[in-house]
Amino acid sequence: MAGKTGPYDGPEGLGRFHSELTVWLDEHDTSFPRRACGMSLSDEVARSRANQSRLWQAGWLRYGWPETVGGLGGSRLLRAAVAEQAARRGLFYDTLAAVGEVLGPTVVEAAPGLAERCITPFLDGTEGWCQGFSEPEAGSDLASLRCRAVDAGDHWVVTGQKVWTSYAQFASRMVLLARTGSAEDRHRGITALLVDMDSPGVTVRPLQAINDMAEFSETFFDGVRVSKDRVIGEVGGGWSVAMRMLRHERGGIFWMLSAWLLDELEKLAGTADLGVADDEAVGRLFASVAALRARSWTTQHRLAAGAIETPETSIDKILMATAEQELFDLVRTSLDGVLEFADDESVAWLRSSYMYSRAASVYGGTAEIQRNIVADQVLGLRSP
Ligand SMILES: Cc1cc2nc3c(=O)[nH]c(=O)nc-3n(C[C@H](O)[C@H](O)[C@H](O)COP(=O)(O)OP(=O)(O)OC[C@H]3O[C@@H](n4cnc5c(N)ncnc54)[C@H](O)[C@@H]3O)c2cc1C
Repeated sequence: MAGKTGPYDGPEGLGRFHSELTVWLDEHDTSFPRRACGMSLSDEVARSRANQSRLWQAGWLRYGWPETVGGLGGSRLLRAAVAEQAARRGLFYDTLAAVGEVLGPTVVEAAPGLAERCITPFLDGTEGWCQGFSEPEAGSDLASLRCRAVDAGDHWVVTGQKVWTSYAQFASRMVLLARTGSAEDRHRGITALLVDMDSPGVTVRPLQAINDMAEFSETFFDGVRVSKDRVIGEVGGGWSVAMRMLRHERGGIFWMLSAWLLDELEKLAGTADLGVADDEAVGRLFASVAALRARSWTTQHRLAAGAIETPETSIDKILMATAEQELFDLVRTSLDGVLEFADDESVAWLRSSYMYSRAASVYGGTAEIQRNIVADQVLGLRSP
């Protein structure tokens, strides 16, 4: 996705970009709305998108995207640099911003013409998109998905169900994986489509999660018409779109989430009595966050150079989930009963983060599946 030669190319350019961005953000810091305790999810989404729009209008978020979609070109490392700063300053609702970094580059690469027509409002924060992959019987075993798209001449007709679709109730469009071949075709009979969420026949039912947020939804499709020009990649090529998406997910977004974890760790070290916690757990957590940061930085560079295979990024996912869960386990121990029983809003916030951290080893592929991938496809441990 690198553009023509630009002012922020190469290591020196990246350093300059980082410095200029920091100065600009310091100057404008107080004018960005921050997350407040007790904020509703819809207010969070609106706040995060408004901040995203502001950074896009100011130009910072346009770097790392091609000019065809309103970007200013340059390396994807520039996007990672913005994401990191946004995380450390609490500008975005991180898991919402993650959806952008997962879907955006995938659609731009796999369907450049479609991206040119549709994607700028998503990148600039005007509209939300969502990812419709998982189904009730197809999560880890995604290749068994059953939501079907039938060829009806100049359009597809989509019928079926998705589940755990993050932010579907706030989305204008969905990147949907649908079966266009037979069930026996498994991963070869799947096509990725861009579906308008306001199409007749789409129903979204939000699901309450354990942290009390209705962040994801069940999504139903009842004879939904999708124009033929909405195919992402090739007909029958949905699996490679999905794999591409997984690779992007471990890019700038993991760099952002690791910065957020580092920030939370610093706050914890500054406020809680870590003496209450087991020394070994404290040491392990610092090592886990450091390992994640080191690995993620290397991955950013390898992604930017196009030099990493999707299975290798499973290591990043394992490190990310481990660090996040260790951190909030330590928060819980250090607060010694407060997390479970106190009622004030700042504790409710921490409790919500603790609950959400349980999902880190599930979303984007479970910890068990990631370990299977590393064992099979990276280390070659399973005999053929
Ligand atoms: C917060 C959150 C947000 C999400 N957002 C989205 C989204 O926006 N879009 C979307 O499409 N999906 C989303 N998901 C769904 C997510 O991708 C799935 O939950 C995940 O892929 C696991 O699928 P499953 O829940 O069906 O569990 P299952 O696949 O049923 O797995 C159940 C258990 O069995 C284990 N297991 C399954 N197969 C194997 C195996 N072969 N070897 C070893 N263990 C195995 C799993 O590790 C797990 O512990 C989200 C999930 C969460 C938690």
